[in-house]
Amino acid sequence: MNLRPRQDIGTFPQNPSTYGHSHLGIPLEVWRPRDRCKLLIHAGIHGEEPETTFALSRALRLLPEPSQHCAVVLAANPDGLIRGTRGNARGVDLNRNFPTRDWQPDPVKHRSTLDDPRDVVLSPGSGPGSEVETRALIDLIAELQPETVIALHAPLACIDDPTQGPLARWLAGQTGLPLVPDIGYPTPGSFGTWGAEQNITVVTYEFPLTTTDALVSEHVPVLAELITGGGSWS
Ligand SMILES: [Zn+2]
Repeated sequence: MNLRPRQDIGTFPQNPSTYGHSHLGIPLEVWRPRDRCKLLIHAGIHGEEPETTFALSRALRLLPEPSQHCAVVLAANPDGLIRGTRGNARGVDLNRNFPTRDWQPDPVKHRSTLDDPRDVVLSPGSGPGSEVETRALIDLIAELQPETVIALHAPLACIDDPTQGPLARWLAGQTGLPLVPDIGYPTPGSFGTWGAEQNITVVTYEFPLTTTDALVSEHVPVLAELITGGGSWS
């Protein structure tokens, strides 16, 4: 893989474009591919998982030129990222807000750490697709028409793909993370369910609970290879 000189990786080799704005007015940014989009990777849809944004950013900054076929969204929920909250600025878990057949209005419960009970409550939104960040991501995908989307999360340490497809199998092999068909609990209105209903392959890449340094050494190279066409998706 062709990499930029180390002294250059503090900044991006290309500028993003804007695909909308968050509730607080922050630009929603996408790094577009040079040619037709086949893969989209997004990070930071849960604002308390900032390591996903950092690792994907670092991978993008290693590469000397825009990807041929991969689009990158570093911060699907920028308001949550700047506030350090799982949900967006309106208290909505965006990963329960997608307009799926199983969307439901009950409060969403999550754990604040892996050892805690699942008892912290967020809203799934006032209706399916009620949030501006959700609708912007849907519109971006409608425009880019990727065949596959990789959604970065943490820290459940697995590769989740209900279809157990070749890209997920490649990711599991590269990372040593287990390949699972689901995350182990119901996720109505999730991005993954929405993608499946649109016939888009969605692979959820859950980083392990680990250090930033370990992400740089173990997961950033995998992400860089994905952006440049690795995993045999291009
Ligand atoms: Zn998450």
